[in-house]
Amino acid sequence: MENTLFTVGPVQMHEDILALGGEQLPYFRTASFSAITLFCEKTIRRLANAPDGSRALFLTSSGTGAMEAAIINLLTTKDSALIVNGGSFGQRFCDICADDGIPFHALTPEPGTSPAPSGYTEDKLRDYSALLVNAHETSTGQLFDIETMGSNCRKAGCLFIVDAISSFLCDPIDMDAMGIDALIVSSQKALALPPGLSILILSRRAIERVMKNSVNSHYFGLRKYLKDAERGQTPFTPAVGILLQLERRLRRIEELGVRRLIDSSAESANRFRSMVAALPVKMFPDKPSNALSALSPTNGADAYDVFTTLAEKYGLYVTPNGGDLRRKVFRVGHMGNLTEDDYRALVKALSEVLR
Ligand SMILES: *Cc1c(COP(=O)(O)O)cnc(C)c1O
Repeated sequence: MENTLFTVGPVQMHEDILALGGEQLPYFRTASFSAITLFCEKTIRRLANAPDGSRALFLTSSGTGAMEAAIINLLTTKDSALIVNGGSFGQRFCDICADDGIPFHALTPEPGTSPAPSGYTEDKLRDYSALLVNAHETSTGQLFDIETMGSNCRKAGCLFIVDAISSFLCDPIDMDAMGIDALIVSSQKALALPPGLSILILSRRAIERVMKNSVNSHYFGLRKYLKDAERGQTPFTPAVGILLQLERRLRRIEELGVRRLIDSSAESANRFRSMVAALPVKMFPDKPSNALSALSPTNGADAYDVFTTLAEKYGLYVTPNGGDLRRKVFRVGHMGNLTEDDYRALVKALSEVLR
């Protein structure tokens, strides 16, 4: 039985990307590899509508590495961060700050809801050097109001650091319009590539901070990445194979247009949500991202058992939750190479499992 991934990373990859993964890798300290990296950099900045003077850096790490790199390069022990902690990824920002000695305060809405806007007004933000948020809190499926947060940050002169790992290419993200100073992206979500490459896009303001701050990390000290990026290189061996797959994927996305990709992600999410409307499940978040549907059984079924049975009996992998939501929520992704037939198969299996 072939497995199908409705997970939130890795996701189903496209055939051409899989085929590229089987090829011999080139040596990378060459002009032709630099050209590939520069193309990827320019394209990813355009897709994010990164403001003039910004730079995209490629890190060989999963997304969390880029979250930590952003924090330790942009903030010091003398700064203070406000963190939207809407679930396990917001908690990760808190844990990173705690481990790296960055003072922080967390806004902690009920899981599946957004923080009250009174918690991040211009006035409140004046007390902090940065606001940190996961645009889409992947553990609950909730999409936050990035636009308002960014606009308040701008007015308060507060740095705005956004983990868009699970919303980039699924929900509209516009660094310039949303006032984002650091945007974090990773390869294994909607980019539908293997895990291991993360991307950090820094605004001019963020770059100035990096140049000014000193960092207690050799591998993740970003000044050398900024310097090498000018000629399409990285200080250490990059994820050569994933960068080649990224180039292929970005050329395809450029053909399609990012707007169409986001629209089709919304369509896929909405179609699936109407397909399960008759089943004993309800949407968990009150403002869902297009990237996934976090569902709660309403008939007393155990969400973790739903995950196990779908995987073992049907080869269909949804994403289970951990912690307090383990028995309450499972998540169905709308990223990667999934077809209507895949969703029909999932809905049929779900209707049997939830009976
Ligand atoms: C997947 C994800 C990450 C990255 O997790 P890694 O396991 O380090 O790749 C970070 N933030 C969000 C919101 C995510 O969905």
